[in-house]
Amino acid sequence: MTAKLFRFALLAICLAPAAAAQTPAPAKTAEPQAGTKGNEPALPYSPSLDLTSMDKKADPCVNFYRYACGGWQARNPIPPDQTSWSVYGKLYQDNLNFLRGILEAAAVKSSTRDQPTREIGDFYAACMDEAAVEKRGISAIQSQLDAIAKLQSARELAPLAARLQTAYGGSMLFSAHSAQDLDDSEQVIAELSQGGLGLPDRDYYTKDDAKSKETRERYLLHVQKVFELMGEQPEAAKRDAETVMRLETDMAKASLTRVEQRDPYKLKHKMGVPELEQLAPNFDWKAYYQESQYPPIAVMNVTSPEFFKELSARLAAEPIADWKAYMRFHAVNSASPYLSAAFVDANFDFYRKYLRGAKEQQPRWKRCVSYTDRGLGDALGQAYVAKVFSPELKASTLDMVRRIEEAMGQRIRELDWMGAGTKKEALAKLDGIRNKIGYPDKWRDYSTLKIERDDFAGNMERNAAFERRREINKIGKPVDHGEWGMSAPTVNAYYDAQMNDINFPAGVLLPPLYDAKEDDAPNYGDTGGTIGHELTHGFDDEGSQFDAKGNLKNWWTKEDREKFDARTKCVADQYAQYIVVDDIHINSQLTLGEDVADLGGEILAYVAWKDATKGKKLESIDGLTPDQRFFIGFAQWACDNQRPEDMRVRAITDPHSPAEYRINGVVVNMPQFQQAFSCKEGQPMTKPTEKVCRVW
Ligand SMILES: [Zn+2]
Repeated sequence: MTAKLFRFALLAICLAPAAAAQTPAPAKTAEPQAGTKGNEPALPYSPSLDLTSMDKKADPCVNFYRYACGGWQARNPIPPDQTSWSVYGKLYQDNLNFLRGILEAAAVKSSTRDQPTREIGDFYAACMDEAAVEKRGISAIQSQLDAIAKLQSARELAPLAARLQTAYGGSMLFSAHSAQDLDDSEQVIAELSQGGLGLPDRDYYTKDDAKSKETRERYLLHVQKVFELMGEQPEAAKRDAETVMRLETDMAKASLTRVEQRDPYKLKHKMGVPELEQLAPNFDWKAYYQESQYPPIAVMNVTSPEFFKELSARLAAEPIADWKAYMRFHAVNSASPYLSAAFVDANFDFYRKYLRGAKEQQPRWKRCVSYTDRGLGDALGQAYVAKVFSPELKASTLDMVRRIEEAMGQRIRELDWMGAGTKKEALAKLDGIRNKIGYPDKWRDYSTLKIERDDFAGNMERNAAFERRREINKIGKPVDHGEWGMSAPTVNAYYDAQMNDINFPAGVLLPPLYDAKEDDAPNYGDTGGTIGHELTHGFDDEGSQFDAKGNLKNWWTKEDREKFDARTKCVADQYAQYIVVDDIHINSQLTLGEDVADLGGEILAYVAWKDATKGKKLESIDGLTPDQRFFIGFAQWACDNQRPEDMRVRAITDPHSPAEYRINGVVVNMPQFQQAFSCKEGQPMTKPTEKVCRVW
């Protein structure tokens, strides 16, 4: 995960990041589409409209998602090592398998390997050397644990926190990173955000329902287990676990909710270091920034001041021994996936098995390919792109992007509820959007990162430190607009409100999502809708608060904003009625931006498709009309199967609605759909005209 994603609230990602980061399953279709020249396995092919994925017995006007995806759901049970299973997830699995071939070839020692090949090959080889990892055990991170043991006072904690954050990323106490200034997107400043929790969200610590209580009990047992693996006796480990829970609960209560974090004004608190020292006086900020090697800080942003105030109060009030227990746990918990089997298993048992419902650990090679993709995404991405993403594919997807943008311009000009002044600003914002397709123009250089073939945990630490250094070095410098927040093989996409750019990695532009062999109808329904989705994020309830330059600046008249808010409220009210799992409803204030983007994106795709095929005579294929094929193509990006455990986590943490509603919730608002399938008034996939939601 790149540092940009620390402030995930301002990045609109097409899918839940977790869905893209997991995945895998055996490839069923065998027709190769790429990679046939080398020894790598080929990426399997499946079409962007797959008749066998449908359930023709289902009535499209009663449950369109089941009609389009019922066959896929029946044929694709969730693999035991997965927490969910989906078209996107399956494609990422195919990618992992394909990348494995690249990495195994790269790992073979030879004098002819170029720099990126040597980097990814040695990184992967070190991860795969399970015997070496096993032999080192916890000693791989002993120096960090020794440093924690030496801690004498809360004041001394700051420089140590800096070192541990450098080694393990942001889970220690809080998150520190760089970010674009909300008021001046061309400047990069230092930023501090809440963090420090071991459960996936602050709500897990504050909710009182039976399931939340059970989760806290299980988490306590997990923390205790980690202490025991460090060598503590069960009694002491239990006491230490209770301490960790107590400290985290205090931090959770002072944390912003995910819905609050969707309001950029709630995240904007610019100050200098002296004001930060007043806000949180019990943490030695000077020592912290010195140890982290920050450049001089003139101004910074603290996204959640209350959190830092509380953290400071706790640092003064709690014994240093308790903070040492907290830091020991977080150091080991963060490093567990890279340590010996006992730690890996404990981590899996709680986070993937209990919390998300996986039955089995993923085979080691899958994890190693994922770590390489995450850590050295630009080195691995070069090899990937060279094999799967041709210049022709880049050109044809870019053409689709342009058509969707034209459709957006047309819609803005035609809106009957928006005044001319706001329209002008909206069009300027649309005009300012940068399109990033496939992969970066300039690949990141990892040559200063030391990669050892026999030191997996060390590689991970140095990799985290490298990324943190890169983040910090951006402070005070102009923004690099060419930077990407996702690696090229990632099966996902995003809009960045401060960059005002839409980003589509190569991984999301391949079959079955974009299929050069198919006609326009399913491709516009699927990838056209994804492009429209990211574009609409620039104009959803959150993105619409940023202007063409990516600054947090109102460009709406009061009257137009009120009309816009009434329109988004229609969407929020609709999705609030849907159930995620058990009796848990969608938190539609959390999912609003995504729901608006889903609806807007598909409308744009439809308009652009009609425009692209104007004057062409479109034929029915396999008994399905062109319009029907457009909508089935749309629905089939989202075919999935979910475990109830995973759904419960997502109900709290995921800003996206469940897949079924990302389809059915959209088509009920599109009369073109009702016409395409001759749905009758009163059927579930229809709405009375006056209740149809339409934002853009
Ligand atoms: Zn999105």
